[in-house]
Amino acid sequence: MSHPTNPPTTPAPTPALSAAALRAALGATTPVVAPDDDDYGAARAIEPGGVEQRPAAVVRPADTDAVARAVRLARDAGAEVSVRSGGHSVFGLGSADGALTLDLRGLDGVEIDVGGRTAWAGGGITAGAYSRAAGEHGLATPFGDTGTVGVGGITLGGGVGLLSRSLGMTIDSLLGAEVVTADGEVVRADADHEPDLFWALRGGGGNFGVVTRFRFALHEVSQVVGGVLLMPATPEAVAGVVAAADAAPPGLTMVVMVMPAPPMPMIPADWHGRLVVMANACWSGPLDEADAALAPLRDVAARAGGALLDGLRTAPYPSLLEGGPQGGPVVATGRTFFADGLDEAAATHLLEQLEGSDAMMRAAQLRVLGGAVADVPADATAYAHRAARVIGNVAAVAPDAATAAGYTPWVDALAARLRGADGAYVNFSVDGGLDVARAAYPGATWDRLLDVKRRYDPQNVFRGNVNVPPA
Ligand SMILES: Cc1cc2nc3c(=O)[nH]c(=O)nc-3n(C[C@H](O)[C@H](O)[C@H](O)COP(=O)(O)OP(=O)(O)OC[C@H]3O[C@@H](n4cnc5c(N)ncnc54)[C@H](O)[C@@H]3O)c2cc1C
Repeated sequence: MSHPTNPPTTPAPTPALSAAALRAALGATTPVVAPDDDDYGAARAIEPGGVEQRPAAVVRPADTDAVARAVRLARDAGAEVSVRSGGHSVFGLGSADGALTLDLRGLDGVEIDVGGRTAWAGGGITAGAYSRAAGEHGLATPFGDTGTVGVGGITLGGGVGLLSRSLGMTIDSLLGAEVVTADGEVVRADADHEPDLFWALRGGGGNFGVVTRFRFALHEVSQVVGGVLLMPATPEAVAGVVAAADAAPPGLTMVVMVMPAPPMPMIPADWHGRLVVMANACWSGPLDEADAALAPLRDVAARAGGALLDGLRTAPYPSLLEGGPQGGPVVATGRTFFADGLDEAAATHLLEQLEGSDAMMRAAQLRVLGGAVADVPADATAYAHRAARVIGNVAAVAPDAATAAGYTPWVDALAARLRGADGAYVNFSVDGGLDVARAAYPGATWDRLLDVKRRYDPQNVFRGNVNVPPA
């Protein structure tokens, strides 16, 4: 989230990556956008504000073969390949200075096998588009809480969302992938083919190749009870919601935000700007058991003075992924952490810090895990933090990158105070440094990822990620 702003210069492309050379090699069916082109600004744009990356060229492949040819060209030129899927990397990984950026948004197909409960999804589809297509059959694969996020990035990093406690992380529903490796080969990775690569893809990020197609398990999820319950933020309310989410049956997953209430019409006007707890809940169990499952959450709200908004309702699951951040890119600085829970002392500190900050928007997000996430052994996938009960995130939003950077010490200190367990979750990490990679991939996970990286990408062609360096 904290983004260094790069000088507005474009590194000279190597001759092999000039627009003319790329167009000649890739042919008319694969659009190439170069720095001199009028649409270069739009082509290199990614979701987070304050990121000014200038790739040597943006290539928009329409199929796996075009991806493979582009990767071979980049490799032969000694260039980095950056991969842009949904463009939501919180530190702008979808683009990189001087890189060949592969914009996968054209790979947005989805094929659903209703009877077999599986789906193939293009490497550039969004979680929302996939979920709407699956939802037409009363089926779902768990992604996050925001439909505009790319299936590519969220899956490769792990994927925690509104179905995590009932159905596990996204990677727990990944059955296989079609991958273009660093040498431009197309391989299939699943339990029976390239099993080490398949293991590494499930949490190891974009380190190992370009995934052109994902094969997912589908689960019967049709109507759920979900939405937002908003209450005044007291220490008891913050700690109580986290405890209620942790004690809930696995059919209930909550993403808890603590922040000043935004000036939205559905929130009472006298609460605008005052600290609130916003519990984004999703009950995916039997509908007639929803009220009982949600009762402890509503009890916490009652003890905090009453719900300011009770938007919990029966709705089709995909509708819960709609909405998301509005109003264009924001510049933010943030820090992620793991914790075992959040007691009232920590909640008191959190509220004091949020109250005392002058950032135009500041928030703590607490995702309560456990349930099906914790049922998977830590070494089964490259995401190793199965025992962590809470993934947290502290963020401050600012009008520009320089101002945002000024809040970095604040988010660092607050995250350090709330942190209760080691580790990092790559999808919420704000830089790709070695310390982050080592925190994300502890012990034997790191050793195995290094081994897979050396076998599949010894030149580190794919380094625009929380990088596992082969050397
Ligand atoms: C508003 C918002 C909400 C979010 N909500 C959640 C959430 O609920 N749960 C959660 O777990 N995370 C969430 N995230 C984090 C998100 O999962 C990561 O930022 C993720 O990397 C975004 O993926 P993307 O494809 O949109 O981004 P991109 O910037 O396009 O891609 C990020 C990186 O992923 C890799 N990558 C993407 N696609 C491919 C591919 N097909 N093949 C190879 N590598 C690929 C590349 O390294 C790429 O640079 C959220 C982020 C935002 C901004």
